[in-house]
Amino acid sequence: MIAVKNHRLVSSDKSLQISFDASPNHGTTFSEGLPDVIVLHYTGGSSLESSVNWLKNPASKASAHVIIGKNGEIVQMVPFNIKAWHAGISEWQGRKNLNNFSIGIEIDNSGLLEKRVDGYYTYWGKRIDNSQVVLATHKHKNQEQAWEAFTEKQIVIVEKIVMALKERYPIKDIVGHDDIAPGRKTDPGPAFPLQKIKNKLFYYRNEDVQLDINNNPNYGIVTADYLNIRTGPSVNNQTVSEPLPKGTKLKIVEEKNGWLKVKVDIQGWVSQHWVDLL
Ligand SMILES: [Zn+2]
Repeated sequence: MIAVKNHRLVSSDKSLQISFDASPNHGTTFSEGLPDVIVLHYTGGSSLESSVNWLKNPASKASAHVIIGKNGEIVQMVPFNIKAWHAGISEWQGRKNLNNFSIGIEIDNSGLLEKRVDGYYTYWGKRIDNSQVVLATHKHKNQEQAWEAFTEKQIVIVEKIVMALKERYPIKDIVGHDDIAPGRKTDPGPAFPLQKIKNKLFYYRNEDVQLDINNNPNYGIVTADYLNIRTGPSVNNQTVSEPLPKGTKLKIVEEKNGWLKVKVDIQGWVSQHWVDLL
């Protein structure tokens, strides 16, 4: 469980890493009744540390309330009652300049990748393993591009933080930077399951609930470029085979904590985030 106390994230769960590393880049306190929107971003940076350092540097003139590392580490940089500088020129549903009414969450992720003859690379030239590449079409583009996968831990932590923020502030929507600055921004992009989180936490349409394992065989299709299949329902379990490629059809036999036990020619557990139900 994560909660908000004195406008900061806290948790009694010792397995969660939450630290505070203040950024000088921020505005005044929010007006009464705000913030009411959450904006998600990817950093496009090379590491959590480099992104934290950049957002602490006055020269960046940028910050976020929270940054989430690849292992689910949480670094808060601005208290939630203060305006952070993450949105830039932006508009959502007729309201301009989202810094004035939103909480910004950055996720450590390289974002859009470049395809070379021997694989996929970040714009600063780091090779990204194929298992961490998601091929997907951005909602504002008409061709498939390569994106670095978000980690399962990052997705789970985003959900927990959003739930904690909804408990404390009158949050009514969650959007991507690409929703509020289309054309200018691509983050968090199609590799992040924003719509699933929106459906679950804001529209209360939990896809998990639609699974009726006992009465009906359910089928799904792999949406990640490559999806690890494991001996049990967590990333701590070993993989049982090569990753399943995108488009693999799965028979779903069990569901547990965001994981699906599936049968192909082999049987194992996969993250539900990367499976669309058929
Ligand atoms: Zn952004």
